[in-house]
Amino acid sequence: MDFKSFIRDVADFPKEGIVFKDITPLLKNPDALNNACDTLAGFLEGKQVDKVIGVDSRGFIFAPMLASKLGAGFVPVRKKGKLPYATEAASYDLEYGTDTLEIHVDAIEKGEKVLIHDDVLATGGTAAAVCELVKRLGGEIVQCNFLIHLSFLQGESKLNHVPVKSLIKY
Ligand code: 5GP
Repeated sequence: MDFKSFIRDVADFPKEGIVFKDITPLLKNPDALNNACDTLAGFLEGKQVDKVIGVDSRGFIFAPMLASKLGAGFVPVRKKGKLPYATEAASYDLEYGTDTLEIHVDAIEKGEKVLIHDDVLATGGTAAAVCELVKRLGGEIVQCNFLIHLSFLQGESKLNHVPVKSLIKY
């Protein structure tokens, strides 16, 4: 399927100069939604996955569907202050300032095999912070998968050779 045809470029969002990749045309099309989910799950063929992490907030759309397909549990990684129980936190640099992501301390058992999912891999700061959280809890990262990989931003280089898969590459 030509997944690229379901991605809309939105100029100057969320601020001037940024061309935002909008995934909502893909989400609202029943065939594209179903196909995207099957393809993302297919990237794990033959691999064991115990937990699928979805990254706040667009990672929450596909991660639970993938978890269900893969026979795994779903774990949310959220922006600081949103999770109710004890958390582990990791900060990462933004263009201006920093941001912090959190995971519940009991979300992953030592040695569990973890898939990290988010909608877009851009500079890699977000995914690198999530990898750090998984490692601190003793999980083993099987793969990071994304709908969209903006490869010209070289985010993959921050992920320490973790396998990266995506539906669409720019
Ligand atoms: P990074 O940390 O890799 O620079 O940015 C990735 C994060 O920013 C992801 O959580 C993703 O949701 C968001 N993001 C960055 N650029 C875009 C974009 O063009 N479209 C969408 N949908 N999300 C983006």
